Amino acid sequence: PSPQSSAPSSAPSKDISRRGLMLVLSSPSGAGKTTISRRLLERDSGITMSVSATTRAMRPGEVPGVDYHFIDLPRFDQMVEDGEFLEYARVFGNCYGTPRGAVEEALGAGRDVLFDIDWQGTQQLGQNARDDLVSIFVLPPSGEELERRLHSRAQDSAEVIAGRMAKASDEISHWAEYDYVIINRDVEQSVAAVTAILHAERLRRRRQVGLPQFVKTVQAAL
Ligand code: 5GP
Repeated sequence: PSPQSSAPSSAPSKDISRRGLMLVLSSPSGAGKTTISRRLLERDSGITMSVSATTRAMRPGEVPGVDYHFIDLPRFDQMVEDGEFLEYARVFGNCYGTPRGAVEEALGAGRDVLFDIDWQGTQQLGQNARDDLVSIFVLPPSGEELERRLHSRAQDSAEVIAGRMAKASDEISHWAEYDYVIINRDVEQSVAAVTAILHAERLRRRRQVGLPQFVKTVQAAL
């Protein structure tokens, strides 16, 4: 019997249990990472978003518990102290952290988790869980285009935009620490690239923890 042979996709399979992976997307603000993440989540049922906790103010249109868990600084500090974060960092003067529980549960169940976190968070995940981590850096097509995109986000004040421009070059300076780099010239092409990376990484031998058992059953039939 060969239940696997014609499966066209790399989606989690019932036949071979697989440990989930952590897919990190980092980029300077305005490079298009959020749009890429949204489309990936819509199209791939095997991956779920890690919802971070943050102390920053909620923006118009954001939904608590979906975009972020919005919490105050004392609560954030308490979570740090209790070891509830897989990683955390200060970004643009606010605190951001990845709650550990939801991620560990998903990975253990063989689901993949998508993270929209900065280079500091990616470094911390790399130190704690290198085998599970796949990191992608998204670059803007040019500096001019990044500036234009930051200005077109009406919801942010001029001061915030200026701060983000200053931070963008800092974030970009960490591009070489990532496994993959995508230049976001066209969103659809970038989504296709991220999807290809995800599909290939799912097939890594070490992630398919049920393979030895599966191969045994194949050999037993020969
Ligand atoms: P924003 O405030 O625009 O939603 O996010 C600002 C920056 O914080 C982005 O670069 C985003 O990737 C990063 N960020 C969001 N959540 C987390 C997190 O949980 N940990 C870390 N290290 N960075 C985060």
